[in-house]
Amino acid sequence: MRQFQFNYVNDNAFIRELKKLSQWCKTMITSTVFFQVFTESVDSNRVKAICSLIEREMPGALYMGCSTNGNILNGEFSNYDTTVTCTVCEYPNTKISLKQYVLTPETEYDVIKEVNNYVNSNPWIKAVEMLVTIRGLSMTGFCDGLDNLRNNVKVFGGGAFIPDFGNSACVFSNDGGFSEKGVVFLFLGGDDLHIDTTFITGWKPLGRELVVSKAKGCMLYELDGKPAYDTYYKYLNIKNDEHFFTNTLEFPFVYDHNGISILRAPIASNADGSLEMTADIEEGALARIAYGDPWTILESVRNGAEGIRSFQPEVIHVFSCAARRTFWGKDEVSKETVPFQTLAPTSGFYTSGEFLRSDGHVNQHNVTLVVAAFREGDLIGEYNDSFEMKEENFSGKVSMINRLATFIEAATEELEEANAKLAKMAVTDALTGLFNRGEIQRRISKALKDGKRVSLVMLDIDNFKSVNDTFGHKEGDNVIKGLCGCIEKTLADVTDDGQSGRWGGEEFMVLLCDDDCDKADKTAELIRESFAQMPFPNSRPQSVSIGVTDARENENTDTVVMRADDALYKAKNSGKNTVVRL
Ligand code: GH3
Ligand code: MG
Ligand code: MG
Repeated sequence: MRQFQFNYVNDNAFIRELKKLSQWCKTMITSTVFFQVFTESVDSNRVKAICSLIEREMPGALYMGCSTNGNILNGEFSNYDTTVTCTVCEYPNTKISLKQYVLTPETEYDVIKEVNNYVNSNPWIKAVEMLVTIRGLSMTGFCDGLDNLRNNVKVFGGGAFIPDFGNSACVFSNDGGFSEKGVVFLFLGGDDLHIDTTFITGWKPLGRELVVSKAKGCMLYELDGKPAYDTYYKYLNIKNDEHFFTNTLEFPFVYDHNGISILRAPIASNADGSLEMTADIEEGALARIAYGDPWTILESVRNGAEGIRSFQPEVIHVFSCAARRTFWGKDEVSKETVPFQTLAPTSGFYTSGEFLRSDGHVNQHNVTLVVAAFREGDLIGEYNDSFEMKEENFSGKVSMINRLATFIEAATEELEEANAKLAKMAVTDALTGLFNRGEIQRRISKALKDGKRVSLVMLDIDNFKSVNDTFGHKEGDNVIKGLCGCIEKTLADVTDDGQSGRWGGEEFMVLLCDDDCDKADKTAELIRESFAQMPFPNSRPQSVSIGVTDARENENTDTVVMRADDALYKAKNSGKNTVVRL
């Protein structure tokens, strides 16, 4: 497999390149050829002119392309607005085909269905490369639809860029021509073609998790119940002004989706504090701010390229987010793609979204570098491909931001652990480890509010004062813990979700909900029996009196608890060591 890459300078130079290519291909016994055209222009006439030159000079060759935010040629940012790559497959078994569809919310379902049918009825297909105009579409549904492709089929690609976030993006190919709302799929496969993919971010999470408490599509309204913009102002002092987009680029959100880390960056901030994001972020997700740091990013590139190296690629396609171009600046952005060129000819473009299938799921990434590597034929045992990345990038220096981020990360982890401990302490009774009164009360109220059936079992140890008086306070504590053991064991044995708390000194409350309510009397009786049989070698056998009641319709916490208390009082008055239901 070979890849020829050139800038489109003008028609004449382009025709010369095409003629050379055509001649070269004729010298080969077998070859399958496909072109990729990446252009910062969305001028349909210009695109059509380039496409017709390919058709004229290389009849039968497949071609596809899209609008971009800049192009990558020979692993570097190209200074030309249009670049062309020609990939030539040399093995007779290698097969490629191409399909273009109109993609709108109305056609989305049919497109997914057709691609699934096509891939699943063509067992030779090993990978699908896609170029897609994504504006106005939630790509989540589209990506989820592609999850149904055969499990061993790789999916990768990029979103056609929309210049100035305003005008239309475009895709085009020999199948469907120029389209402002479309998707082009390139299907690749055959026994001798091998494809490996990976993605690289380099952005690292920073600080604590924030709950996405309100979001819809690409709009992120609230984090932790507060306007999403507040996060940027509070933690990073980023103002809601014309620099918001570039300032937040270094700090997109990172969250887990389908088991992998996905980045989402804000495009704009609105007056109500909501943020328009680069793509969907789902409500309920736990997001953290991430930071971009050149040193960390390059280290991730090095690790990613190391992985690709062992695959022995012949051709590499990269799809890098336009945000990365802005982050690095034009002069430095090549640093993160040029290492791939030392492995194989590397081409690609800056996207408005990167796609990659990982663990069966097709994900839309942002601020990410997706890499697809191709090889025809088997691995060769020995290989000397030297992989280079300038050591000066790494020579022992760790940037200040990296060190500070590590510091914040460690401090946050400690705080989160401490907070988790405190949160547990706040609801737990220290002596028994059961919920404290406040917590069990809250749980009763919540169960009633949620419309659940509720039964309460209230317990009080009999003649407990005399245990303290006769055998000491320590033995008293021991008896209290003994009863807790009986309660916990009985709940675990009998109920699905029985909950218990310490109501006061030697008084306890058990909360049973829904189906567990039918077991309230049995639970109470079992606790009573097992506690009566429990040996206390340092004092004497004990007993407990128990009141049981069910909540009535629309009843509040106070009145149910009062009735449980009355039942308990009756049990005390009926000679103790008994269960009374009211
Ligand atoms: P009754 O059978 O009517 O319930 O009689 P009683 O003796 O159990 O009476 P009461 O419920 O009033 O006794 C509660 C006693 O529990 C009073 C208090 O000293 C003791 N107590 C409260 N909290 C603790 C504790 O944490 N440890 C110990 N050892 N005793 C406690
Ligand atoms: Mg008592
Ligand atoms: Mg008592």
